[in-house]
Amino acid sequence: MKIIRSPKEMQKICRDFKRRGKSIGFVPTMGYLHRGHLNLVKIAGSKSDVVVVSLFVNPAQFGPREDFHRYPRNFKRDWLLLEKSGCDYLFAPGVRAMYPEGYHTYVNVEKLTGHLEGAVRPGHFKGVTTIVAKLFNLVQPDIAVFGQKDAQQAVVLKKMVDDLNYGIKMIIAPTVRERSGLACSSRNQYLSSEERKQAKVLYQSLQLAKEMIKNGERSVNRLVSKMNKFIDKQPLAEIDYIAVTNAHTLELLNKLKGEVLISLAVRFGKTRLIDNIKTKLRK
Ligand code: AMP
Repeated sequence: MKIIRSPKEMQKICRDFKRRGKSIGFVPTMGYLHRGHLNLVKIAGSKSDVVVVSLFVNPAQFGPREDFHRYPRNFKRDWLLLEKSGCDYLFAPGVRAMYPEGYHTYVNVEKLTGHLEGAVRPGHFKGVTTIVAKLFNLVQPDIAVFGQKDAQQAVVLKKMVDDLNYGIKMIIAPTVRERSGLACSSRNQYLSSEERKQAKVLYQSLQLAKEMIKNGERSVNRLVSKMNKFIDKQPLAEIDYIAVTNAHTLELLNKLKGEVLISLAVRFGKTRLIDNIKTKLRK
């Protein structure tokens, strides 16, 4: 595995592969890798000749009061994990290389970014789409692999790829979880052992919702109220939102119908966790 720091060099390497007819699979990450990330790398490897993983904690997607500075970073650890995971190129540019002095260009997907995470984290998705657009231009991937864990991000990036004619095949991989059901996340390491114990309530509440739907529940109000009560039983949990939306438009639903995304954000102390499930209703 080669480590590349310079955007220009990364672009040249990828251009050369493309010229030689090799397909490129790409996995963008912010590092502090876990099994969820490594599964994306494995999928990229199974579908392309060359695998590029980027590691960049993108300041543009963090709000001023968010955790950019304390976001976990451990380059050596990530490097070793990737080396064993079939990654060919680890692209790890510095902030100044990606956003030099006088940087002024941003990519924004409208509408979809006004809901859910976008409603509570203004500017977040503009940062995400901008960095991913830049990375796509450097790496020129044939396929890019993202996780369902960040459901809205997946929908927004697919829209960007469509609208801007990137011609990249977007693969959305299922959420990888710890044994307790807690979704793997770089931010899990902020949790105290008691918080971690209580944090499995996110997944449990989503399972509860799934069970209610299976048993015929079609009222969003009743579903959300049950989930709310269930999560509230955990003294350290503070609900940011629980939302039931159309899985494609991300618009809030009153009645459960079609393909539905149930997503939630819950705080444990200073740590904000998100999770979701997607489910398709027949009627
Ligand atoms: P991040 O490093 O948090 O920006 O995530 C990089 C990629 O990994 C994104 O596409 C995430 O959706 C994906 N990802 C993060 N956690 C998981 C998980 N538990 N399972 C599957 N994919 C994940």
